Amino acid sequence: MPELPEAERARLALEAALGRRITGVDDHDSYVCRPHATGEIAAALVGHRLTSAHRRGKFLWVETQDGTTLGLHLGMAGRIEVDPEDSGRWDRFRVDFEDGGALVLRDKRRLGRAVINPDYGHVGPDAADVGRAEFRRLIGSGRAPVKARLLDQGVVSGLGNLLVDQVLWQARIAPGRSVSELSVEDLDRLRRSVRVAVRSSLRLGGSHTGQFIAARASQGRCPRDGSPVHRARIGGRTTYWCPFCQR
Ligand SMILES: [Zn+2]
Repeated sequence: MPELPEAERARLALEAALGRRITGVDDHDSYVCRPHATGEIAAALVGHRLTSAHRRGKFLWVETQDGTTLGLHLGMAGRIEVDPEDSGRWDRFRVDFEDGGALVLRDKRRLGRAVINPDYGHVGPDAADVGRAEFRRLIGSGRAPVKARLLDQGVVSGLGNLLVDQVLWQARIAPGRSVSELSVEDLDRLRRSVRVAVRSSLRLGGSHTGQFIAARASQGRCPRDGSPVHRARIGGRTTYWCPFCQR
């Protein structure tokens, strides 16, 4: 499932679409393009050029020179392709450019979204650049399990199931621990682990590249101390951790 690194890769792909005049939009998939009726997104975009590509957490948007914004979300399995060599049966949304190229949302699961002028006010700050004081306040208040809090996109955005297990392992914090029990030192160490895990996954090619991810399996062992990892459902998600070094 796409997490912050996959969304950032999509944002980089979108940069190849900037500056090019839009001559057509296929927005006939009214589920992916909800709440818009067919033709609405086309009417908003045709004739314009995309000027900038942005991301917060897993949410993407591109701006046009007249101020209209096209929001894109990858859902559970979507990909952004700019100038694909073929047109696939899973293409849910398509923008055609004057030069013959195209921007495509390719999504077998059909859980991605394309929307004009989206409101991302409910999305928390990006996990990669949330400040220390803000992180302490956002993550440390209340009493949710720390895993659930880190997965809440309205608190900080971009972390999914794999990255959160990696981050908690790096920070040596058990996923079921209540955030009310975390010290300021715990919270600062957790934030550092978020930044390290995000940077590393961006460099290595995705959220599956974390050192702990291979241990997320039956018979999995902690890469730090060789202890058997435990598995439970926390925050609604299958969670792995090492009870020996994560407290
Ligand atoms: Zn361990």
